[in-house]
Amino acid sequence: MVILMLGAQGTGKGTVAGLLSEKLGWPQISTGDIFRKNMKEETPLGVEANKYMSKGELVPDEITVPMVANRLNEEDAQAGAILDGFPRNLAQAEKLDEILQEKGKKVDLVINLTSPKNEIITRILNRRVCSNQACKTTYNLTMHPPKKEGICDKCGAELVQRGDDSDEAAIQNRLNIYDEKTLPLVEFYSQKGVLRTEEISEKTGRLGKDVAEDILKEIKGDIKIG
Ligand code: AMP
Repeated sequence: MVILMLGAQGTGKGTVAGLLSEKLGWPQISTGDIFRKNMKEETPLGVEANKYMSKGELVPDEITVPMVANRLNEEDAQAGAILDGFPRNLAQAEKLDEILQEKGKKVDLVINLTSPKNEIITRILNRRVCSNQACKTTYNLTMHPPKKEGICDKCGAELVQRGDDSDEAAIQNRLNIYDEKTLPLVEFYSQKGVLRTEEISEKTGRLGKDVAEDILKEIKGDIKIG
């Protein structure tokens, strides 16, 4: 089963994808995380990706698509996968269909997260992530703070702020690019009948974990886990 996460930055895609991945035993394939890991290790891919990421721009499809295709070929992604941050434009979505079709697979469910814009910006500025690549748990300084300041509850590693999360101009640029390039995917997947839209909001109290719980209840009956 292939699940996609759609939604602007800061809507909670990573949180929902992480919970689904943990409970279903399928990898969370986050293109942003793969780029960040490469940047940290200063690989040629990381150096190239950084040119775009630091400005909040999309990394070119020629780099991103083969990277995802390779990741989907790995053994742990054969039973199921949760794509988080890919596709980000129509060309990537069409390429993904081709990649999956060759494997006799398709996109089964698209979880489209929305949030009020004022909440999104605050949430991005307050986001902290665990620096341990094997953990990567996300926190929010106001909504979901760690028990001990600056330290991950799960593994004890240091919490850090993503470089592109501290720059308000880069955040705004990412949100504009989302509206322009990624939003058309809502219609693309709606027409395929696989779209499920959920609003995450502190105001209504419906958060990422509530959405993940509901989705798990619905799909766990239909799939074999493990
Ligand atoms: P994210 O962690 O999903 O917020 O992604 C962080 C940054 O990585 C984005 O602002 C882009 O620069 C880059 N990125 C992540 N996924 C993609 C993608 N599918 N296509 C192009 N660039 C991407």
